[in-house]
Amino acid sequence: MNLDEFVNLYEEYKKKPSKKEAIDILNKDEITEVDYIKLLNCYDLDVLEIAARKAKDITERYFGKNIFLYVPLYISNFCSSGCIYCGYSCFNKIKRKRLNIKEIEDEMKALKKRGFQSILILTGEDNTKEGFNHLKDAVRLARRYFSEVLIETSPLTLDGYMELVNEGLTGVTLYQETYDLDTYKKVHLLGEKRNFKARLWAIERAIEAGVREVNIGCLLGLCSDYLKDVFLLSMHAMYLLKKYPKIELSISFPRIRPFKGMNFDYTEVSDLELVKFIVYTRLLLKNVGINISTRERSDLRDNLIGLGVTKMSAESKTSVGGYSKESDSLGQFEVSDKRSLDEIIKVIRSKGYNAEFINWVMI
Ligand code: SF4
Repeated sequence: MNLDEFVNLYEEYKKKPSKKEAIDILNKDEITEVDYIKLLNCYDLDVLEIAARKAKDITERYFGKNIFLYVPLYISNFCSSGCIYCGYSCFNKIKRKRLNIKEIEDEMKALKKRGFQSILILTGEDNTKEGFNHLKDAVRLARRYFSEVLIETSPLTLDGYMELVNEGLTGVTLYQETYDLDTYKKVHLLGEKRNFKARLWAIERAIEAGVREVNIGCLLGLCSDYLKDVFLLSMHAMYLLKKYPKIELSISFPRIRPFKGMNFDYTEVSDLELVKFIVYTRLLLKNVGINISTRERSDLRDNLIGLGVTKMSAESKTSVGGYSKESDSLGQFEVSDKRSLDEIIKVIRSKGYNAEFINWVMI
């Protein structure tokens, strides 16, 4: 992907459109990259309301009235990188923990019992042989309990991803965090995560290794020009879909959440802005999943059902373990929506949507 080309395009068109111009864009069947930049820079609420109705129709046409539910499981918080926005940064003096295989299985059994069929296994940045083997054991075990097994870890080599695919890995989540190189350098102080390009290309290695599903995202508010980040994230998605048309792709727009020891400046992104991003991105990327995690408040998550969102995490813990028994480790960040899975399902159904646990079944 030629990032500079997209940055230049954004810089050229990033000005607020007139209301008429924005409505003309909404009347098109397909919007262009330039139209998308203009909509991201539009703050008119009437325009947003029209777009929201359109986004709802598109989402239902491509995904039905379904909200897919998954759960994250942190198996280790050892991390060799220092990212200023993360509670697991190596600079933070917190208790480090790696679940043993019996503890991982207990956690998976507890999650399976609750009904989850899709699991996202997370670790800190740990490129040691021991770290990789721990991850591999967890993936192998997860395959026994879940239809979908995804990981969110440091980037792996092609061989590393292939080994995990052979163990049952079905998907990879890898957020670039920010597509702005200067911001990227400022927020990644130490470790392998400092390598912007290595991270950018890793998702393609995962696809080439055979995963069926990838999730990309950026942490809104790291870069003060977060509209640019949203635009570049969507361009990344378009590039991947063009190159790998069979891949199932989702995007996320997480916002920064507090954690113990948090001490850095960031840009607040309002609820309204988040709604805008989801709605306008749905108009551009019709068949891309949009994920909203428990970082966001319950009332906001509820209101986003029907506006473009297709995936939600539920009952999430960001500590290491914590599902089968109380965890004594600190969370990576504070979860906002702390409702039980049953409560979330109830709300999804009350809005006329199905709460789905299986996207596809592996035979
Ligand atoms: S974001 Fe990931 S790599 Fe960075 S400090 Fe947190 S766990 Fe480590």
